[in-house]
This record gives sequence, C-alpha cells and structure tokens, in this order.
Amino acid sequence: MSLKIINKSDLMPFVANMMGEYEVIGPVANDIGFKFATLTDASQVRLNYNTTVIPPRKTLLPTQETLFSFQKDMLAPTFDMKWRVLLGVHTCDLHAMCMLDEAFARGQPDTHYMKRRATTTIVSMECLDTCDENSFCKSMNTLTATSGFDLHLIQLGDFYAVDVGTTAGEALLANHAKSHEATRAEIALLDKTMSQKWSKFPVRLHLDGKDLPALMGVSYKSPLWEEVGKRCFGCGSCNIVCPTCYCFDVRDEVSMDGKSGERYRIWDSCQLDEFARIGSGENFRKTHAHRLRHRFMRKGKYIAEAFPGHQGCVGCGRCARACLVDITPVGVWNSLRQDHA
Ligand code: SF4
Ligand code: SF4
Repeated sequence: MSLKIINKSDLMPFVANMMGEYEVIGPVANDIGFKFATLTDASQVRLNYNTTVIPPRKTLLPTQETLFSFQKDMLAPTFDMKWRVLLGVHTCDLHAMCMLDEAFARGQPDTHYMKRRATTTIVSMECLDTCDENSFCKSMNTLTATSGFDLHLIQLGDFYAVDVGTTAGEALLANHAKSHEATRAEIALLDKTMSQKWSKFPVRLHLDGKDLPALMGVSYKSPLWEEVGKRCFGCGSCNIVCPTCYCFDVRDEVSMDGKSGERYRIWDSCQLDEFARIGSGENFRKTHAHRLRHRFMRKGKYIAEAFPGHQGCVGCGRCARACLVDITPVGVWNSLRQDHA
C-alpha cells in the first residue's frame, strides 16, 4: 500500500503505545534463546532474534484451547476475543500462517481460529541474515514476503522501513507510531539492502522447494523411510516445533457430579504411536518408518497440493534443531533427490 519510515529511537514508543491498547506478543529472550511471549514492558522485545523453539502459530492455535463449556443445562462456546498484535514474525513463519489461514477457512471454517485471527494484527520482520545452519528458507522461497502482514519492518541502520500491507496496519501505524513517508534516499537504501541480502542465505536443498511434490510422488516406496525410521524415537518434537503443523486432539473433561465440564483441543503429533490408532485397535501407521514418511509427505507434497500457492514446509529448520537423532528435511530430501537424480 505504502512505504513509511520509523526512526529507531521511535520504535520502543511505538511498541509501548500499542501495549496501551492491545496485548502485544513478540520475541523475548529466555534461558535457551528466544520465545514469543506477551510483553509486559516494551524493552523486553528482541527484534534482532534469530529464531524461537516454538513458532508464533501458538498465538493463533494455542497449545490447549477450550472450545465450549457447560454448567448444568447451559452450554456455551468459548471464544478468545482479545485484540492483539503479533510483533516480529519472520517471513518463514508468516508464510506458514498464511497457509494456516487457508487450512482453517476451507470447507467448514474453524470458528475459534477465524475469530482469533480476525482480532490479531501481524507486524512481521524481514530477515537480513540467515538464522543458523539449519534454516533453508531460500530453497523454500520464504526468505521474504510481499503479503500476509499488516505491517512489515525492515531494519536499515538507524531506521526501519515499514511496508504497509493492510488498512488495519495503516491505522495501527497512524494511531501509535511517529512515522513519515519514505524519501528517495531511504527507498534507495532499502533497495540496496534487499539486493545484498540474497547472497547471505545459502541454498541447502539440492532442488527448488516447488519441485518437492514431484520428488515425494516418486519416493513413496523409497528404502530411505525404513532407514531413517530405525533412528526415529517417535517423540513428536518435530511436529511440536513446526509452524505448519496444525493437527489437534479433542478431549472432554466432565466434573465428578456430571454437572459441568468442557471440551478442549490440544496439539497432537502424527509421529506418536497412538495418532493413527482407531477404535478397533488397528493402527494404520504402525511403524516409525510409516509415520515419518507421512510427515515428510505432508511437508513436501500433500499440503502444497491441497493449498496451491502454499508450502507444507517453510524451511525454518526448527525440526532439525529439535531432533535428537539428526533427522532433517534437508538430509531426507537431498538423499531422495540423489536417489532420483
Ligand atoms: S524425527 Fe526426530 S524429532 Fe521427529 S519423532 Fe523422530 S526422533 Fe522425534
Ligand atoms: S518441516 Fe521442519 S523446517 Fe519445515 S516448516 Fe516444519 S519445522 Fe520448519
């Protein structure tokens, strides 16, 4: 829509002003790195973070969420209608959220997700350097974004360029920040910075992310699944840290007297043994090899085909960092690529 500039010294006042009206969730430091958390003070935010263990999808799809509750004969859905700003989202996670938006809106829309999404304003952040040796966003074409955000920040020395993506973003900026229209010199610096960033991101996959569905299509019977399956613990960490995983279990809890209770959903993992076990006791993905293949099929093929224009993997590298036995998308996909070269 337009390009604005915020001086670096005006960024903290911008965050503080937003906190006066919204719950502001952003990257903060913790003992092991960074996490997304509700800010209690503007100075807590760390916009120069590299990555977080758990992705910001937890803001839109909480780890556990009450869907409805009942008291005696009164049953009521439970909605979280808090107005919030999700600040500092990297572009890989932004691409993942755009896919989630599509997944939860398709068919019978998921009302809980849709309502939370409607009350969330996203202020994303351009990465100007790679997170670490595990990220492969360049191969998945997610190292930048031109949509999906309300505001998008690009740090340029002592100021931020702000790409305004929506009218909600425009209003947020107008009401809470001191900003000005970008000058020619500032636009020239933005262009230079953006053109210089590409060489800082290594290509780690030996194929373009767009070619993954075809590779996965011919790899269904690959012996690699048994090979990596022998190493896998089936712990589910790879799902929990993934910004594009959205499977959940639904559970009921009822009080001892049966007069009150709730139904809630909780994150689930396709890597757990019981995930595909059905009522009769049959398990249609019995082995680690079957479950791993399913995960990689979803990441490389099923989601891209179900939601054209989106990817099942955004190359964030979190699952590679989380896996104790070094089962990584880059390792798996490069091996399959070599087998089918
Ligand atoms: S691939 Fe790694 S993180 Fe995922 S379930 Fe297996 S051992 Fe756990
Ligand atoms: S599969 Fe791994 S690298 Fe891809 S989006 Fe999920 S966590 Fe990130």
